[in-house]
Amino acid sequence: MGTRSRSVKETGFLWVEEGEPHQGVIAEVAPLRPVYRTYSYSVPSSIEDAVSIGRHVEIPMGKRGRETTGFVVGLDKRTWDGTLRPIKSVVNEPCSLSPELVELGRNIAEHYASPLGLTLKAMMPTAVREGRGLRVVRYARLAQSLESIQSDGSRLTTQRKALLDALACQDDAVNVSVLLSAAGVSDAVLRGAIKQGWVEIEERKEFRETQEDPVDRIEPVFELSDEQASAIEHIRARIDSGQFSASLLFGVSGSGKTEVYVRAIRHALAQGKQAILLVPEIALTTQLVRRLAARFESVAVNHSGLTGVQRSRIWQQIEAGEKNVVIGTRSAVFAPCPNLGLICVDEEQEASYKNLQTPRFHVRDVAIMRAQKLGIPVVLGSATPSVEVWYRSEVHRDYDRITLPKRINGLPMPKVHLVDMKLETAELKRQVVLSRAMERLLGRTLDRDEQAIILMNRRGFASRSHCPACGLGVMCPNCQVGMVVHSTSNESICHYCRTRVPTPTHCNDPTCGAKLIRLGSGTQRIEEVLAELFPKARVRRVDSDTMKHRSHYESLVSDFESHEVDVLVGTQMIAKGLDFSNVSFVGVIGADALNLSSDFRAEERLFQLVTQVAGRAGRAGKAGEVVVQTTTPELRSLRCALTHDYESFVQEELKAREAVGFPPYGRLARLVLSHEREALVDSEASALAGRIQSMIASKGLAVDVLGPNACPLRRLQGKYRVDILLRTSHVSVLYKIMNHLSATHALRTKARSLVVDVDPVSLS
Ligand code: ADP
Ligand code: ZN
Repeated sequence: MGTRSRSVKETGFLWVEEGEPHQGVIAEVAPLRPVYRTYSYSVPSSIEDAVSIGRHVEIPMGKRGRETTGFVVGLDKRTWDGTLRPIKSVVNEPCSLSPELVELGRNIAEHYASPLGLTLKAMMPTAVREGRGLRVVRYARLAQSLESIQSDGSRLTTQRKALLDALACQDDAVNVSVLLSAAGVSDAVLRGAIKQGWVEIEERKEFRETQEDPVDRIEPVFELSDEQASAIEHIRARIDSGQFSASLLFGVSGSGKTEVYVRAIRHALAQGKQAILLVPEIALTTQLVRRLAARFESVAVNHSGLTGVQRSRIWQQIEAGEKNVVIGTRSAVFAPCPNLGLICVDEEQEASYKNLQTPRFHVRDVAIMRAQKLGIPVVLGSATPSVEVWYRSEVHRDYDRITLPKRINGLPMPKVHLVDMKLETAELKRQVVLSRAMERLLGRTLDRDEQAIILMNRRGFASRSHCPACGLGVMCPNCQVGMVVHSTSNESICHYCRTRVPTPTHCNDPTCGAKLIRLGSGTQRIEEVLAELFPKARVRRVDSDTMKHRSHYESLVSDFESHEVDVLVGTQMIAKGLDFSNVSFVGVIGADALNLSSDFRAEERLFQLVTQVAGRAGRAGKAGEVVVQTTTPELRSLRCALTHDYESFVQEELKAREAVGFPPYGRLARLVLSHEREALVDSEASALAGRIQSMIASKGLAVDVLGPNACPLRRLQGKYRVDILLRTSHVSVLYKIMNHLSATHALRTKARSLVVDVDPVSLS
């Protein structure tokens, strides 16, 4: 299309030129740009075969026709009365999103108010989109029959004859390097034969072979428990029914849920289908994934340590049906299985299932969407189900519930002790990191040569200032507890009453006044205390400072497993997924009402955290003990966690949510504005809230606008943050508002960024 006329004008979403009517294939393309619409392009006949729905293609965009790429989301043969710009090329020749995945992408884009192109982009790994790992492989075949070459009278050298003979005995084209070594001839001989017109070369794009981690297959030897057997029976029947179903697999930790997934997946495989098992994106999934992978014959494991080429290759193997089980974190929910029969989501309540970039989808909810569209079952496993999923199984009852009430082998649940640190401080007349109960039980564990895990429930970037002279730090004027220094704002914040003061440089005790020193993060402090109290114990700290690479986790797991480490100290990241048989003590430090006022899910999280970490104690015949240190023992999350009573907790929690119309009784969308200038972000947020208010009033929609409010994390990466929450009883009302807002450009703002988060999991 070199001779474009000058009279180009944009009408609707077609680029139209004056001219003859044309007939041909039109592709609807969603560009990988933050735009909420699709564009039409003509498909040149030269690439018509390669252009199909789900292909990643190169396209010109905008007035200047800048090169960009997008996904083909529709194809149509029709006549148009101008000239559309053509698609330039197909980017990733052998891979594409299946029509099923494109449809899923449309649903996700609609639900999360995210641009379709960016949504599809998130569904296909970058390496696959760019066709990485592909190389051109040359294939040779005879261009004429051997007889005609010989009758030609040309002299055939021995080498040429060997080459032609090797080709003559093959029906199909032969890989050139295979051919040369089989015939024992050099490339020059081949070049000569090509020149003579005897041999022709064909170039094919193929995936580079990649090394696979060898997985030894291990089959455990035990009888299924009765509960496991009936859970598996239940899911099998669901698979056989050929319909959508969602089942909550509610089983305490150690009840053998993993075995249920494995058997259910095998049943799907036996029907000739594929299965996806999703595991949360946590530091220590390695162990779980390795054990699971060992149970299947052709399994694709998606983890963050893969290279681009490996990712590409795995995608293609799954697409070709060569791998029939996919185990992975977030992105595995989009695995291109051609005949998917089952999706399992382990630890469905995990906050890490929420994608933190556009599209801000929740993996569990996408798994449910996908299962619904395909008419297949989805199994959601948890010891502490999300309040939303529990509500569907208990109140709404459209999900069924399978319960594994007991630990395998009738192991008792660990004994949980709650220590009120306010009392502890009062009795000891000083602040301590470890309570007396924690110190005693930990000491006993170490004496018996058993292992322990200590978890610090405090934000990673926090640390304390400490006075070397009098031993005090910065104290909260209201609560008389040590305040935490936030390095981002250099303020000291009381995590109980949320009082903020600029961090002083000198001790604020008038009789002292020495220069304060900064103690490391919470976990570092615990490490120091442990070294003083138990000098012989081998302590390993696990947090984002010490665990920068996947190999760090792997060596940590193996060191702990082989008992080269006695005590693991860490943040949330060690709470889940670990299964070590020699761990008999777990301590939780700082299980407080942190930010409870800022996030309606805070109690749910605290309950989950304490329950999960307690589930690490005493898993193989050893009675476990758990000490939870808190300044707020009256919280329902802690009261109920003490007796492992999920059902009481969730009932109280549901009542509290119902009273304020928060999920699952209402749906939320959160708009977060941020900018370096505080005054600007505040005024822009008020203006946006005003536009939303008047839009709602004019449409008569039932939506509450909460805010604008300063975010609990007021300043992040140098930008001030303000949010507006939209709350409504029905998700369709939410779509309506979001559509109106984007269609009328009401979301335009001078703030540096505006993030739209539908069904947010964090309000920080
Ligand atoms: P969950 O995922 O519910 O926390 P797991 O599936 O990790 O529990 O099971 C806990 C442990 O019990 C694992 O070591 C597992 O191998 C073992 N296990 C599972 N089922 C049985 C069974 N029927 N008999 C004996 N051991 C079992
Ligand atoms: Zn305070």
